[in-house]
Amino acid sequence: MPKPVVAIVGRPNVGKSTIFNRIVGERISIVEDIPGVTRDRIYAPCEWLNFQFNLIDTGGIEIGDEPFLAQIRHQAEIAIEEADVIIFITNGREGVTPADEEVAKILYRSNKPVVLAVNKMDNPDMRENIYEFYSLGFGEPYPISGAHGLGLGDLLDAVCKHFPKPQSENDDEGIIKFSLIGRPNVGKSSLVNAILGEERVIVSEIAGTTRDAIDTKFTYNKQEFVIIDTAGMRKKGKIYETTEKYSVLRALKAIERSDVVLVVLNAEEGIIEQDKRIAGYAHEAGKAVVIVVNKWDAVEKDERTMREFEKDIRDQFLFLDYAPIVFLSAKTKKRLHTLMPQIILASENHAMRVQTNVLNDVIMDAVAMNPTPTDHGTRLKIYYATQVSVKPPTFVIFVNDPELLHFSYERFLENRIRDAFGFEGTPIKIIARKRR
Ligand code: GDP
Ligand code: GDP
Repeated sequence: MPKPVVAIVGRPNVGKSTIFNRIVGERISIVEDIPGVTRDRIYAPCEWLNFQFNLIDTGGIEIGDEPFLAQIRHQAEIAIEEADVIIFITNGREGVTPADEEVAKILYRSNKPVVLAVNKMDNPDMRENIYEFYSLGFGEPYPISGAHGLGLGDLLDAVCKHFPKPQSENDDEGIIKFSLIGRPNVGKSSLVNAILGEERVIVSEIAGTTRDAIDTKFTYNKQEFVIIDTAGMRKKGKIYETTEKYSVLRALKAIERSDVVLVVLNAEEGIIEQDKRIAGYAHEAGKAVVIVVNKWDAVEKDERTMREFEKDIRDQFLFLDYAPIVFLSAKTKKRLHTLMPQIILASENHAMRVQTNVLNDVIMDAVAMNPTPTDHGTRLKIYYATQVSVKPPTFVIFVNDPELLHFSYERFLENRIRDAFGFEGTPIKIIARKRR
């Protein structure tokens, strides 16, 4: 079941990004420090009470040098297209402006639920200001202060009320879903065609999936797969579809629905910053990852080339050290046959459960080999470990004080777990919990 999507819209300076950061920031417990990923973010997973959803700040999607009104009109259209629920933000200090009315007109034409927020209501005696916002036609306006974090709970309650009722997606059991991400022209479409053509697979397009991607089901070695293709969707003709942020959004939604993500690189051009950012999204989402170096036919090679390329990838994608690397050519199909086995392996590891007693043996051996750290005279004590979930494999380690489990020791434990059980192709998560 994909999480509902909530989009924030509103004219510039009403406080969209402030509120986005508030809602995201307070709820994300582990923000990973990957350059370029957490910075400048316009799409993020959030939680409110028992609800999980993804939040988009459409204000972060800038469309070239479009005039002001066209810009906000497009952002509103994106919100309508992408979101299940829209948060429409206005500024209570400035009242209703013509630009607000413009946004309202667009939102009104859609049948998406809209929750109206009046921001910058930093103190209660400003409450009077909200009444004129009824004129926008979206019912009760919610007074909030992004700067002070006021009113957000009531706002989010109202948002969650509009979420679609969850349906079960049991038919998907046992199917491996994967998507391809990478910057334009690395060869994603070519690779999709190569996989579907070359592997002599049984192909069927799944009717009525999503607007963002074409899902194609196929069978390979008796295993069912769904390939989620966003690359083929890019030329739908609307201006904003070609902006980088918008394609990132598409990719993020595809990642979300995938078990395995193929990070596609172009061997001809090597690795650039944008590749790292894109790969960071897959890692952050906790998906299995296979790195694909495409256009291998176009590179002049000797016996060292592959090893050097691999080293370069390892140096630049430190956070993806678990991802296998496949070199191939979508054009000539050379080495294409090496890809599917890696996707299967990564997917199996992503869903792997280990036995608790074996896990604890591994942890205790690790501790015996490399004693736990101390801080201000207190030593970290590890009592017990257990795997609490899969996709990705997640381990809870019960300790005397979670603060004492520093990054480097956690990394050491992760490596011991990997040495013992494999887990190639999948991130794993370790959570320290205080034993009661
Ligand atoms: P955006 O363009 O809609 O994303 O707006 P920003 O989030 O960048 O905010 C625009 C300005 O309004 C910034 O200077 C914020 O500090 C300020 N701002 C945002 N929320 C509030 C609020 O609740 N109260 C006040 N007083 N200022 C706010
Ligand atoms: P996308 O934007 O990532 O979907 O990339 P495309 O699949 O549209 O490919 C971009 C360009 O790279 C096209 O001209 C392809 O013919 C070319 N291309 C794709 N795969 C290969 C490959 O393996 N080798 C070579 N030499 N060219 C390729």
